[in-house]
Amino acid sequence: MATTRQMSARGIRVPIDDRALVDHHCHGVISHDLTADRLERWISESYLPAAGGCSYWDTPLGALIRAHCAPLLDLDPFVPPVRYVERRLELGFEEVNRRLVGASGVRAFLIDTGIREPALCGVQWFQSAVPRAVVREVVRLERIVEEMVSAGVDANDYPDAVGIAVERALRGAAAAKTVVAYRWGLELEPSAPSQGDVIDAASRWVATRPQQWRLTDPVLLRHLVWVGIEAVRERRIPMQVHSGFGDPDLTLHRTDPSLLTPLLRATQPLGVAIMLLHCYPYHRQAGYLAAMFPHVYVDVGLALNHAGPSAPRVLAELMELAPFHKQLYSSDAVGLAELHYLGARLFRRSLAQVLEGWLTHGDIDADGAERIAMQLGWRNAQRVYDLNLEA
Ligand SMILES: [Zn+2]
Repeated sequence: MATTRQMSARGIRVPIDDRALVDHHCHGVISHDLTADRLERWISESYLPAAGGCSYWDTPLGALIRAHCAPLLDLDPFVPPVRYVERRLELGFEEVNRRLVGASGVRAFLIDTGIREPALCGVQWFQSAVPRAVVREVVRLERIVEEMVSAGVDANDYPDAVGIAVERALRGAAAAKTVVAYRWGLELEPSAPSQGDVIDAASRWVATRPQQWRLTDPVLLRHLVWVGIEAVRERRIPMQVHSGFGDPDLTLHRTDPSLLTPLLRATQPLGVAIMLLHCYPYHRQAGYLAAMFPHVYVDVGLALNHAGPSAPRVLAELMELAPFHKQLYSSDAVGLAELHYLGARLFRRSLAQVLEGWLTHGDIDADGAERIAMQLGWRNAQRVYDLNLEA
C-alpha cells in the first residue's frame, strides 16, 4: 500500500502515500443545490451572516476555494465567486460532490453523523460515491441522549436509559464523540456524578420541557462523558473530544484541551484512546498533552481549511512537540465537498513542507520522512480505530 510520491517542488524527496489518507473526523455534504447566499454561509464556521456589505469569500478559505477547487469544476483558478456559484448550479450538487470528494484521495472517512441538518448526506452516500473507501460512523453522544429524552423518559430511569441508548448507538461505530466543549466547556470534574445527582438534574431538565432538547446541564454532561468512556472501553474504540475552534456556540477559552488534564489523568489507566479534535488555537497545548499522556491523540482538523494558505504553519506548530505516533489527519469537512478536497490537499502540502524543512537541515533522512508521513496520514488512524485499509 505504501507507494511513494514526489511532494517537493524544490527537488527534495518527501515521500507520502497519498492514496491511503484517513480522514478520522468529517461530516456529510449538502445534498441539494446551493444558492449564492447558502453556499457562502457554509464557507464560514459562523452561522451568522458576514458583516454588512462584506462576504465570507474574503477569507483564507474563500480564496483557496477559488484557487484550487475551481479547476475541478472546469473553471479557471480565481474565477469570481459569482461564476463559481453558477458553475456549481450548472453541474448540479451530485456531480460537484462526487468530483470534489473523489479528488480528495481519501481512503477512509470516519463520519460524525450527529449534526442536526437533514440535508447532509451520510455514510451511505460516501459508500456509493467513493466505492473503494472505508466509511465508518462516529456517534455523537449528546445527540443520542437528546433524542432519547425528546422521545420521553422518566427522570428516575434516566441513568439506566442513557447507558442502554449509548450502548445501542455504538454498535458498529468506529468511535464515540462528545461536544461537551460546546455545551459547558472542558473543565470537568474527573469522576462520574452520583446516581442521585444525575436523577435530580434529569428531573430539572425534563421538567423545563425546553423547545429544543439541548443537553447543557454540567452534571448530565459529565455523567454522559463517563457513560461514554465506559462504553468505548468495553468496545475498544476511541472517544473523540471536540476542542478549540468551532462555531459561535462555544466560548473559546473554555474549549482549551489543557482544561481536560484532570480527566486525562483519571482516564489514563483505563486504556481508552482520547482523540482531541481540531484544538486550534490550542493545538500546542494539545501537542503537549499528546506528548505527556500515552492515550491522547491530536489533530488540527478544520484549522487547515480555515487557515488556508497558513495551514503549513499551523501543522508545523502541532508537530513541534506531539509525537509522530500521536497525530492524525482530519478535515472536519461539513456541508461543502470543497472542504473534503481542500482539507486533504492542505494536509499533504503542509506535511510535505514541514518535512522538507527537516530534511533540508539534516534532522531526518528520506526514510524517516516517509515513515512520519505514513504515521500521520493513515497508520496512526489505522491502528487506533482498527481500520481494515487492505479491503
Ligand atoms: Zn466536526
